[in-house]
Amino acid sequence: MSDCIFCKIAEHEIPATIVYEDDFVIAFDDLNPQAPVHTLVIPKAHHESIIDDVPAEVLAAMAHAVSEVARIKGLEEGFRVISNKGEAAGQTVMHLHLHVLGGKSLGESLI
Ligand code: 5GP
Ligand code: ZN
Repeated sequence: MSDCIFCKIAEHEIPATIVYEDDFVIAFDDLNPQAPVHTLVIPKAHHESIIDDVPAEVLAAMAHAVSEVARIKGLEEGFRVISNKGEAAGQTVMHLHLHVLGGKSLGESLI
């Protein structure tokens, strides 16, 4: 998608602080972090959300990337993974992404 900011990050057309990358996915730090560690995991191919017929191999690569982010960022004590789907959930970038949040005690609130 030519006007999608996360597609541009996946294609290295605009800069991001990249944490992990493989053939299917890229993980980079969120521009507006909500926790000491706030990294986004996205598929390189454009899918709007988690229910957008994402191939199983891409979902598996995203799960693997979460574990790599946790290892690289030192989140042994725990972390939270969130994916917003739709405007009512707060999705602002319509390219599937997992928020990986950690580095502090997250408590019981939603995020
Ligand atoms: P959403 O609200 O769609 O679940 O999350 C979108 C996230 O993308 C937000 O946390 C926002 O800070 C982040 N974000 C939006 N634009 C950019 C960008 O250009 N670069 C980076 N690194 N993060 C972005
Ligand atoms: Zn996109």
